[in-house]
Amino acid sequence: MQKGINDIILGMKGVFFDMDGVLYDSMGAHADAWSKAFLHFGIDFPPEMVYLNEGRTAQSTINLVFQQNEDRLATDFEIEQIYSKKTEIIAAYPEAVPFGGALALMANLKMEGKAIWVVTGSSQDKYLEALLLDFKEFVTADRIISGKNVTHGKPHPEPYLTALHRSGFLAHEVLVIENAPLGVESAKAAGIFTLAVNTGILEDNILWEAGADIVIRDLSELNL
Ligand code: MG
Repeated sequence: MQKGINDIILGMKGVFFDMDGVLYDSMGAHADAWSKAFLHFGIDFPPEMVYLNEGRTAQSTINLVFQQNEDRLATDFEIEQIYSKKTEIIAAYPEAVPFGGALALMANLKMEGKAIWVVTGSSQDKYLEALLLDFKEFVTADRIISGKNVTHGKPHPEPYLTALHRSGFLAHEVLVIENAPLGVESAKAAGIFTLAVNTGILEDNILWEAGADIVIRDLSELNL
């Protein structure tokens, strides 16, 4: 089966990578920080819910939790307070480490002449700057679509449609690598073949149900 995946990748002109949970082993910290931030305001939002909603903007995540718990949207003040708390908590965690399999895959893609893009919901300069340093041989600023470049975050197709538009590739010429169900939904809604790498705590089934074409556990399973 692995040879099949490799042939599919080699047949593409480029790969669009999600960032958190695909390039970085960062989701455990994000999940923990979100849960603790909500708990600080007396709201229960367990790590599994963070994983299920990964890919949403911070505002969308907070509004979703308020709709579920309070039957209303959060105020701008509440959004700012909870998001500040989350940012404060995660600042105390060690810096996220790149996945070795992601670095190795990018090195192989570069050798094969494939284009490398990153499509992330994150809009924090801190993470985008780290991305350019940690993946400096492979990722350039003009090939990153961040939360700053879109109006609608994942699961809306806009992030991946923006990447298609900017890169000039057609949907069938690229492959997306995502770890989150909403990220898979976003990529599939943009019409792109999607490989899910399940690096988190959710069952593989959730990624299949989101529409993933392939589900693996580690990018090092790919050996181009
Ligand atoms: Mg992700």
